[in-house]
Amino acid sequence: MIAAADFNITKVERSKLNDINLENIPFGKYFTDHMLEVDYEDGEWKTVEIKPYQPLLMQPSMAAIHYGQAIFEGIKAYKGPDGGAYMFRPQDNFKRFNISAERMQMPQVPEDIFMEGMRTLIKLDSNWIPDKEDHSLYIRPFMFSTDEMIGVKPSDKYKFMIILSPTGPYYNTPMRIYVEEHYVRAAPGGVGYAKAAGNYGAAMYATAQAKKQGYDQVLWTDAFEHKYVQECGTMNVFFIIGNTAITPGLEQGTILAGVTRDSAIAVLKDMGFTVEERDLSINDIIDAYHAGVLYEVFGTGTAATISLIKELKYKDFSMKFDIDRWRTAPELKKRLNDIRYGKAADKYGWMYKI
Ligand SMILES: *Cc1c(COP(=O)(O)O)cnc(C)c1O
Repeated sequence: MIAAADFNITKVERSKLNDINLENIPFGKYFTDHMLEVDYEDGEWKTVEIKPYQPLLMQPSMAAIHYGQAIFEGIKAYKGPDGGAYMFRPQDNFKRFNISAERMQMPQVPEDIFMEGMRTLIKLDSNWIPDKEDHSLYIRPFMFSTDEMIGVKPSDKYKFMIILSPTGPYYNTPMRIYVEEHYVRAAPGGVGYAKAAGNYGAAMYATAQAKKQGYDQVLWTDAFEHKYVQECGTMNVFFIIGNTAITPGLEQGTILAGVTRDSAIAVLKDMGFTVEERDLSINDIIDAYHAGVLYEVFGTGTAATISLIKELKYKDFSMKFDIDRWRTAPELKKRLNDIRYGKAADKYGWMYKI
């Protein structure tokens, strides 16, 4: 077990916080004073360094930028009403990180480096956790291959890092979504279930095409038939049909197993919904729309919590929703945020004290 004392900590001389106003700052643009960096070499993790946020020096031959062994996570920390700092279900992100690592043939990151490292880093930069409603500290753990050699093979060397970014309210205006039936995000046997960097690069072209037509994101469909819905951008997706909440299942490994998705399933059950994790075809969605029982459609993810979908465009057909009448998604969002900000009892044991 590594204790904080085992970390090699170098502090900044002057905090950048003196020059930044934490109110309403945009997502992912500002970083705190410190970062965590640890190298993997000769089959073992070296000393964990926590040091001033700074550029990395790399060789042009560095493996990750050629062959893409690169994975990441996204977690948020909040100020609780007791003034303490809390993370939302970070153990689940830790487990998912190592699932991604295994799929990308990268080494496992030990729990004490990931969890204790994250905790020590956040404690050091705890002044950066915004104390305002809808604000938080976004935590970005990531790992990439660092061999300095051009040759396609798993790298022998890796770097694991954590950086922190204070963030204001994530502006999530209701989205117009394009149902994609040409491009593919993930196929069975692929890496869709891993938070691997290449998945996001691979999605950008199709997303840009949809944006040109005025849509905010694509809703991916299955790789074989383009018939079953998958997920949407960096969000899992839920459909409220009658008294049932349906979200695509994880068995095929084409969908990222979101922590927010899992949390939404638990809260929706508590709200009295039957929750089904299963295949859902676009035809069934259209039928439910025509029958007047497709009540709500929304995405779930750490960044925005819940994002309402006000339009779904499939071929020449647009399903439009009167989101002002929705009750479920707003209530779900409120319940999740009340737990995150310590306004409601943490009955599921999701909050992790830093
Ligand atoms: C991160 C991510 C999600 C959401 O996961 P959370 O753990 O809820 O943040 C969903 N889909 C994709 C593709 C993602 O990268």
